Amino acid sequence: MHRRKTKRIMVGNVPVGGDSPITVQSMTNTITKDVPSTVNQIKELEREGCHIIRAAITDLDDAKAIREIKKHINIPFIADIQFDYKLAIAAAENGADCLRINPGNIGSLQKVKEVVKCCKERSIPIRIGVNSGSIKKEYLEKYNGVNAHSIVYSALEQVRLLEDMDFTEIKISLKASDVSLTIEAYEKMSQMVDYPLHLGVTEAGPKLRGIVKSAIGIGTLLSKGIGDTIRVSLTGDPIEEVRVGREILRSLGLLEEGVDIISCPTCGRTKIKLIKLVEEAEDKLKDIKRPLKVAIMGCPVNGPGEAREADIGIAGGDGVGIIFKKGKVIKKVKEEFLIEELMKEIDNL
Ligand code: SF4
Repeated sequence: MHRRKTKRIMVGNVPVGGDSPITVQSMTNTITKDVPSTVNQIKELEREGCHIIRAAITDLDDAKAIREIKKHINIPFIADIQFDYKLAIAAAENGADCLRINPGNIGSLQKVKEVVKCCKERSIPIRIGVNSGSIKKEYLEKYNGVNAHSIVYSALEQVRLLEDMDFTEIKISLKASDVSLTIEAYEKMSQMVDYPLHLGVTEAGPKLRGIVKSAIGIGTLLSKGIGDTIRVSLTGDPIEEVRVGREILRSLGLLEEGVDIISCPTCGRTKIKLIKLVEEAEDKLKDIKRPLKVAIMGCPVNGPGEAREADIGIAGGDGVGIIFKKGKVIKKVKEEFLIEELMKEIDNL
């Protein structure tokens, strides 16, 4: 897969764009100024493999809380600001690693200049985000409503505003809740600028629907080499957003960390409690950060062969199972000890 070349920016200590790995983001849903809750949630998200976190900054207390929050977390913190330029400045002064703000919403040019000056002094990038619901009226009129043109040109106006102030530490998001529109808008934008793109399908919806929409929208773009950082938006626990985001990257071979579990769908040949084994293995393997492919297959006939690309795997028989490495059987184990033995073998790899 050929990845589109973009400018590399730094969000705290995490590079975004250029050749850097594609990162997974999420957003907290705690009250930001409730520091213990916000820190707890961010730490949980970190453990799940979230690379960058964003939080809503709704007032000065939220902005001030960033300083304390940052003492306890290890991933970069993006301050999400709606309209108030003073909050943007306060967030930057209190240690935000990036601002998510639309210059067009801030008001006068002078206010935008002040925010930009503050970001420049601290080398903080700005993420411009246009949602299909926040397109300026003039673009809706000019391009006949909500479509890729109105989204892209609305965002470009914001980009140019920053460029005119000699500010280019920019990343862009163009979200719509319609998957095809999201894809079209990002494709169009990727041909027009080389700033890193933050991918997401907005208001994707409740869990299953949100997962499918995000996987198709984000996955399609990534498979075309478009996108430098992603966020899956789900109505639910942000932990799920991170899990899904990571799986999207993993399924496209874009995540070089953690365990990839390959498991069969089971069929009439399965004589082992495969679903339980997979759940058990998933739980035990989740803290392994190095890249590893583990197969858990239902039968020894097709198992090792179908999962030849796995580094290690198990294939169930009747009351027993085999452990295999790179398609070669290494031992036979009773069903109840299969996972334990698998973990031992993984430790020795
Ligand atoms: Fe069925 Fe074996 Fe294939 Fe699993 S690996 S689906 S048990 S044939």
